[in-house]
Amino acid sequence: MQRHKNYVNGKYLDNRTKECFAVINPATGKQIYEVEIADDTVLNAALESAVKGFKAWSAMDTVNRSRILMRAVSLLRDRNDDLARIEVMDTGKPFQEASTVDVVTGADVIEFFAGAAPGISGSQQDLGRDFYYTRREPLGVCAGIGAWNYPLQIACWKAGPALACGNSMIFKPSEETPLGALKLAEIFTQVGVPDGVFNVVQGAATVGQWLTACPGIEKISFTGEVGTGKKIMASAASTLKDVTMELGGKSPLIIFEDADVDQAVSAAMLGNFYTQGEVCTNGTRVFVHTSIREKFLEQLLARTRANIKMGDPMDPDTNFGALISSEHKKKVLSYIQSAKAEGATQQCGHTMPTLPSQNQEGFFVPPTVFTDCTDQMTFVREEVFGPVMAVLDFDTEAEVIQRANATPFGLAAGVFTRDIQRAHRVIHQLKAGICWVNAYGASPAQMPVGGYKQSGVGRENGLETIGYYTQVKSVYMGMGPLDSPF
Ligand code: NDP
Repeated sequence: MQRHKNYVNGKYLDNRTKECFAVINPATGKQIYEVEIADDTVLNAALESAVKGFKAWSAMDTVNRSRILMRAVSLLRDRNDDLARIEVMDTGKPFQEASTVDVVTGADVIEFFAGAAPGISGSQQDLGRDFYYTRREPLGVCAGIGAWNYPLQIACWKAGPALACGNSMIFKPSEETPLGALKLAEIFTQVGVPDGVFNVVQGAATVGQWLTACPGIEKISFTGEVGTGKKIMASAASTLKDVTMELGGKSPLIIFEDADVDQAVSAAMLGNFYTQGEVCTNGTRVFVHTSIREKFLEQLLARTRANIKMGDPMDPDTNFGALISSEHKKKVLSYIQSAKAEGATQQCGHTMPTLPSQNQEGFFVPPTVFTDCTDQMTFVREEVFGPVMAVLDFDTEAEVIQRANATPFGLAAGVFTRDIQRAHRVIHQLKAGICWVNAYGASPAQMPVGGYKQSGVGRENGLETIGYYTQVKSVYMGMGPLDSPF
């Protein structure tokens, strides 16, 4: 059985305890490799190397830093398909997606911040005789803690801005998907990122807890569930660390009577079935105007039945893969049970399509659509994080805005209408950090993303993020004698 290790100070490091965890291919249910857990020796070495790495990296001219990161972008793109295959093995998502989205969007974000790095600057203002200026300085050692749905992309979305701004990083991937971040670390070393600037430590919550409590770490950038985010913020508060929280959602997708129904169906399918529904921004509450309900459902069900190809994720024709784990599959199935028990009508997802023999033990759940849903149903209120769509009817604009906002989450929202004024009017009233009009799910590097309410704190991507990985130092310059009463 192949064994992977922690990546510290530019190389792989053995742990002392010899403890490992197993990684399962979700499409087959079989173990694919094992990974050494970061013990105290590894964690302390990672911190020491990140402190050392920070000194060298932050002192480097930003154009050089940018040039090195751009080389990493090229290597990520050169190795696109190999990296995509790793993501497929770890996550169970289709190669069709991983090879066109996961690595590409990860590389895009590093490229965006590498391009922006030489432009990071402070300001200067005259105060009569004296003046002050500001410096935008890096924070120091940052920690990244990632979820399992987009492992390499999440590592890139955290490392890109952190490193471009001159910080070093210790990254902990999810225990379910540990390999992508190690490959990113290898690439950084290969292109000349100094040792210690990007370290990867492996393990479950205890390793994450060590990072969040560690006094030498200045910031935690976390992607994961709301409940975990709260624990991490509480732990980070003990040393007043800066935090960025990219958390879960229960986002509304609102389809008005004048929408292009074909496009709206595409959005609903993308926003519920892409990555088997394991996407944080998914529009899982699909509000459809009563007058177009039948037409919408007819198209949605026909296309779901005809166009979703669930199967071996490595098969280039497969567009719907396996859920991350047996435990997660059980959770998703229990939400499906609760939907039925609470009175929703299951329209599709009753039967499993035939799977290739090697995938019989995989964690597959077919795309599932429910109608006759109410806002109070458990699966309509809680994040399922699986391919389970709730179709809800509405009659008026005011009603749908109120219902869309009636949730503690506020990650994303979508509106489909041809009425341009209504589109803006509605979007401006929705309490969500990422909104789409006549589109769903696109997240380019240039666009800041993050949640309102309990869906997050801070932003990733876009120039805003530079403010989250730097701090402002004000320097007052006295140009004459001090004015003092003493
Ligand atoms: P979790 O919150 O369970 O875990 C996320 C990471 O935190 C994992 O690396 C996990 O380790 C680690 N962790 C768990 N407990 C602690 C702790 N107490 N202290 C420090 N670290 C800890 O999320 P999932 O991995 O299950 O991911 C799914 C969730 O992520 C969904 O809610 C989804 O909405 C959200 N998400 C949000 C995104 C956004 O941008 N807003 C994007 C993608 C996902 P381990 O798993 O190894 O135990």
